[in-house]
Amino acid sequence: MNEKCAVVGIFGHEEASKLAYFSLHAMQHRGQEAAGISSSDGKELHTIKKRGLVMRVFDEAKLKTLSGGSAIGHTRYSTAGDDSILDAQPVFARYDLGEMAIVHNGNLTNAEEVRNKLIEKGAIFQTFMDTENLIHLIATSEKDKLLGRIVDAVERIEGAFSLVFLSRKKMFAMRDRHGFRPLSLGRLPNGGYIVASETCAFDLVGAEFIRDVQPGELLIFEKDKKPKSIQVFEPTPKHCIFEYVYFARPDSNVFGQSVYQTRKNMGKELAKVQPIEADVVIPVPDGGVPSAIGYAQESGIPYEMGIMRNHYIGRTFIEPTQEMRDLKVKMKLSPMPGVIAGKRVIVIDDSIVRGTTSRRIIRMLKEAGASEVHMRVSSPPTTDPCFYGVDTPDKENLIAANMTTQEICDYIGADSLAYLCEESLLKSVNSTQDQYCTACFTGKYIV
Ligand code: AMP
Repeated sequence: MNEKCAVVGIFGHEEASKLAYFSLHAMQHRGQEAAGISSSDGKELHTIKKRGLVMRVFDEAKLKTLSGGSAIGHTRYSTAGDDSILDAQPVFARYDLGEMAIVHNGNLTNAEEVRNKLIEKGAIFQTFMDTENLIHLIATSEKDKLLGRIVDAVERIEGAFSLVFLSRKKMFAMRDRHGFRPLSLGRLPNGGYIVASETCAFDLVGAEFIRDVQPGELLIFEKDKKPKSIQVFEPTPKHCIFEYVYFARPDSNVFGQSVYQTRKNMGKELAKVQPIEADVVIPVPDGGVPSAIGYAQESGIPYEMGIMRNHYIGRTFIEPTQEMRDLKVKMKLSPMPGVIAGKRVIVIDDSIVRGTTSRRIIRMLKEAGASEVHMRVSSPPTTDPCFYGVDTPDKENLIAANMTTQEICDYIGADSLAYLCEESLLKSVNSTQDQYCTACFTGKYIV
């Protein structure tokens, strides 16, 4: 099961759970299916998790019961599958050293193997989440301290993980050796600390960015001490490039760069390598906005808002059936005929996955009177599924894995279609080295 989520940890603040709540709110785009927070008051942990949006799951009264000076939180994004509340996070457990809670963003690639071994030894699992493996690995480790047990556990898992652990007295944050998923460290205005998937959470709670948690690094938070760092693994960065393409919020800095600026660069590159004569450039909101601005600035073609988005509807991926997905696109995006009618339109989106959205949008633009519709995509064709935590469909449902660009163009009904090539994508993210995972565009898997 793919887990594409947000995690947060707050340490050393008397309203820790409230800050965790606000941080999750800022990172709601990373997962809308369920939300949860565990807090520690030094004596015991308190956990609330439920299906639904952060705002729906928590209220003032609930946050009050999540007392204590430290808290960790999670928003979960998952497609079809088990909708049981058991599959929401934090994962909480009592074990011989006390109590612990874990939140995880990413996807473990050897989860099944580890789980089978644990089951052979008598472990009983309650959920389908790979994160539950960690609980068992920690509980059954022979080390006498939690720190040693965490190190033991992470040495036995593979894949993508940005993790935050909470015990009664401490908090730990860890990133896998490749740093697939982001995780940043910040200072709270009162001197406490925050770790979060995206820096947009820092901005909301008034935290100051210190630095990213390094790939392979484990941070330990203890009362009245500066966070201690242990480099558990040699870092070999392979950051997820899809964070820049689609996933992260434009006002965040991930992997050391502004998401907005990077996305705008992609649009500029796209205009350089895939130019076309047209009257207007319009984005597919919201994902296509920064790259469409970049495309318009580079090409000199006016930028317009040609499609209106209804914000009160979830992401189209949430509904599992094809039928529902079509309906949701219709409900979500509507054309602005005054901008489009009689015009040659360049429409920009960040990616084409199944092709459903683009097909619907192009039909819509033509019905609204566009004389030509040229689709430009600010990333390469998505040809391969992600095993490191971004939710992508199987290869048979990825349109670019099964059709040529011309066939996709015909299928979506565009007058022309062009993508950003891998080389230009890497140029847009200022990558001089091989420090990004581009497996969804290349099929080159690292783990
Ligand atoms: P599709 O209709 O399947 O081609 O979906 C393409 C649209 O989904 C684009 O507008 C993207 O911005 C968006 N998108 C891309 N990747 C994802 C993802 N992993 N989850 C949700 N939406 C996505």
